[in-house]
Amino acid sequence: MISLRVKIDEASCEGHGRCYALAPALFEPDEIGNASVLGDGIVPAGEEDRARRAVANCPEHAITIDAST
Ligand code: SF4
Repeated sequence: MISLRVKIDEASCEGHGRCYALAPALFEPDEIGNASVLGDGIVPAGEEDRARRAVANCPEHAITIDAST
């Protein structure tokens, strides 16, 4: 079964917060507002569109999404 996995390039994240606003089941802010992936980054069923919107809306292009087997 192929699922999707999101990753954040933490060096590129500038803490705009769009990802965790758009997809709070996938991302969370740290104490200064930068984002990290929740858990192992596997996108649960039903969260795929939110994951893609987070990728598309990150101003720093810090989020990638890949197929994970
Ligand atoms: S949208 Fe991009 S820059 Fe903003 S917090 Fe998320 S990963 Fe960081």
